[in-house]
Amino acid sequence: MAGEKVDPCSSARADAACTHFSLDLTIDFAAKTISGSTTLTVEIRGDDVRELHLDGKDLSIDATTLADSGERLDLVEKATPLGMDYTIHLPAGLEKGSSVKVKLVYSTSPLASGVQWLRPEQTAVKEHPFMFTQCQAIHARSLMPCQDTPAFKCTYDATMRTPKGLRALMSAKLVDENLNAGDNISLFKFEQKTAIPTYLLAIVAGSLFSRDLSERCRVWGEQGTVDKAAYEFEEVEKMLGAAEELLGPYVWERYDMVVLPPSFPYGGMENPMLTFLTPTLLAGDRSLVNVVVHEIVHSWTGNLVTSSTWEHFWLNEGFTVFCERKILGRLEGRLERHLAAYEGLNALRDSVEHFGEDSPYTALCPKFDGSLDPDDVFSSVPYEKGSNFLFYLESIVGEEAMNDFLKKYVIRFSHKSITTDDFQKFFTEFFADKAEALKQVQWEEWYNRPGMPIVKNKFDDTLVTKATNAADEFIAKTDFEGFTFDYGFSTMQEIVFYDHLLQKQSVPAAPIKFLMKSRFPNTSNAELRFRILSLCMKANLTEFNKQVIDFLTSQGRMKFVRPLFRLFAKVPGNAYKATEVFKAHRSQYHNIAAAMLAKDLGL
Ligand SMILES: [Zn+2]
Repeated sequence: MAGEKVDPCSSARADAACTHFSLDLTIDFAAKTISGSTTLTVEIRGDDVRELHLDGKDLSIDATTLADSGERLDLVEKATPLGMDYTIHLPAGLEKGSSVKVKLVYSTSPLASGVQWLRPEQTAVKEHPFMFTQCQAIHARSLMPCQDTPAFKCTYDATMRTPKGLRALMSAKLVDENLNAGDNISLFKFEQKTAIPTYLLAIVAGSLFSRDLSERCRVWGEQGTVDKAAYEFEEVEKMLGAAEELLGPYVWERYDMVVLPPSFPYGGMENPMLTFLTPTLLAGDRSLVNVVVHEIVHSWTGNLVTSSTWEHFWLNEGFTVFCERKILGRLEGRLERHLAAYEGLNALRDSVEHFGEDSPYTALCPKFDGSLDPDDVFSSVPYEKGSNFLFYLESIVGEEAMNDFLKKYVIRFSHKSITTDDFQKFFTEFFADKAEALKQVQWEEWYNRPGMPIVKNKFDDTLVTKATNAADEFIAKTDFEGFTFDYGFSTMQEIVFYDHLLQKQSVPAAPIKFLMKSRFPNTSNAELRFRILSLCMKANLTEFNKQVIDFLTSQGRMKFVRPLFRLFAKVPGNAYKATEVFKAHRSQYHNIAAAMLAKDLGL
């Protein structure tokens, strides 16, 4: 009898859990492969366990053995909608509580969904190739045979070989390096002693340079990027300190960051000890560093306390957004926290409109059936609906009590993988004295009902109103003679200003043309440029197609390219052009982004 499955998106079974993996790998840029071996330490958690189920995707497995004896093990491959289920037959007589080491010799495919290989011309300096991984949600299985589920956590160690002159970094501590290991090879050794889910495995390799920002913080990037990054993120230690004040001691030892090439599909990825960041954050004025606060907070919510399956992903993202904005409030004032929360609601509204308000994907806890890829339902819903839910709960229990709860929640569930039930049970126990007040909470409705949140939180809209009033006045203007765009807004307020215009049924051409002439050239802030260009498309101003195409092809962050491509394609006469632009640049985008864009464009 095989054990119970632990996650609809994984083949892993409850009766045999991987607790450590040891990688010994070579990164081959010419072949676009990573090859070598992984040795899994598997804890036997049931009686008479004879099968180990692993996930894989596009891997070729050359040998499977018991690591200690070298005895060959039988491996049966079965295709699933989300990759491969590898059934490895274990020897008889393994006792419950014992562990066994299984070694797999394997190679990845050049098409591995979790790796992006960049030719030298796709990097900033254009001299060396570059590669980076993105394992969230279920791409670790394209890098190594593993139990690719957040339900289990593993420590790991790794030996990585790169071509000489290139450096490898991982979501782990570098413990040894030999830049001249013979045969034109550099060798790096890593250790991650805090157990992590597989989606937090991360590798980056290329020509990388670093700047120290504090005793425990360092930023990495390509030459030409690293100094800009050091300036932009100089205050990271202050943010880390503010997060510790809210959530307790930082346990990961180091907080390093790496700024990736422009095709990185996300704003940031909270890989432990090495946050991955998009270069679109380098606005030159530190105005977008809230993304770094977000990734820092994941060091507690997500990386220490982890949602056990993708159905409970809001426990990672909703908590992180909620705490990120608390920290923003402490650093920049209460009104900024409320402004960010309001702006978050706009993002949520966009997602709900995109999927449709009855779509099950807009529920806080969406259901997965084993064929749905979490990437396909990725949206702001777990972030913003989750954060709204916690904001609502805070309005009932009070801010100070909620802060106290957050610290205790982290202590209670650190190093564990939990479900929404675990959260609710702990929350109601913690607030047993407020049971009467908590009776009003419609827990199941919050979790399962699609669409916008069932309770509308009251955010302080002082800063919002200033921005939206200005936007209404601005869009009604017909004469821009002598007018200057100078409202004294913060970046977030300016974002709200544009989003208010984007929500209108239609926008007239004149004000948008004015923005393109007077505002667009004066800002290198990607959030602002993205919105001004979106307004151009909303106003059907095809005369700015070129600027839109430049923006769409100069970076691959999905937050920008997905909605802007959709708007671009919707403009009368542009549909064919959008497809052409996408096809011509498809190889520049990350696999995940390219797949989503193709879907968005109906290809
Ligand atoms: Zn996040």
